[in-house]
Amino acid sequence: MRFAALNHRAHVLIGDRAIDLDEASGGRLSADPMETIRRLEEVRSFIEETQPLGRSFTMEELTLAVPSPPQSMAIGVNYADHAAEMDIELAEEPVTFAKFPTSLAGPNETVTLPSSTVDWEVELVLVMGRDAFQLTSDEAWDAVAGVTIGQDLSDRVVQFAAGRQFSLGKSSPGFGPIGPWIVTPDELPNRDDLELSCAIDGVTVQHSRTSMMLRGVVPLLVDVTKHLALKCGDVLFTGTPAGAGFALSPPRYLQPGEQLTSTIEGIGTLVTNFVAP
Ligand code: ZN
Repeated sequence: MRFAALNHRAHVLIGDRAIDLDEASGGRLSADPMETIRRLEEVRSFIEETQPLGRSFTMEELTLAVPSPPQSMAIGVNYADHAAEMDIELAEEPVTFAKFPTSLAGPNETVTLPSSTVDWEVELVLVMGRDAFQLTSDEAWDAVAGVTIGQDLSDRVVQFAAGRQFSLGKSSPGFGPIGPWIVTPDELPNRDDLELSCAIDGVTVQHSRTSMMLRGVVPLLVDVTKHLALKCGDVLFTGTPAGAGFALSPPRYLQPGEQLTSTIEGIGTLVTNFVAP
């Protein structure tokens, strides 16, 4: 199943049609996109039983699919080639930092660049479907409501000026675009091996597969929840492969007027535009 927010209201998407869950269910299901995540099995049963027709929609109608996650975080250096290009040593535990919820943005968003040193990082993003603490390997994927595409936008100067505290340089408004919708893991061709890439104005800058993660989704959730109690609705960015602008010689950063397109197999494409302050 694929679900999303259209004009801030909860919808299920089937092909090129969108079903408004509140309207279609006569108010039994909520218009709040966070409620879709909390009541995913109920939503799935409703769609299967009633087979609503919905209406056609445009990409411009899509808004942030996870508008108020209890927690939002990201994993650093989870691909060996990106760790090497950033010259960051691999750690025994997952490198984890806050991607504060106020940094999240929806699809087709125009993000204001606060500086001339903002970098791109395409990432698979997990949306938790239940509270999760000390997950076993067998439980890990079952705790995920769905996956989406994310950009872990990072001001590299602020990031490293704050020492090893990455959160400040990665949480400005709009620095966490995600979307365009959420796909449940059962829809994916192989949930542990998805092609991902991103391009600036059509020129590919990153291209890899999620099977190249140092910690795939299962070991990542096991290791993170050894320490952290995740909540239903939490957003977790899972790290980026090589190809960040910081590592180029000379470094190359996002410019006003540029368009970033981020694509993950089985999910779709997330478009983000940039403007000067
Ligand atoms: Zn990242």
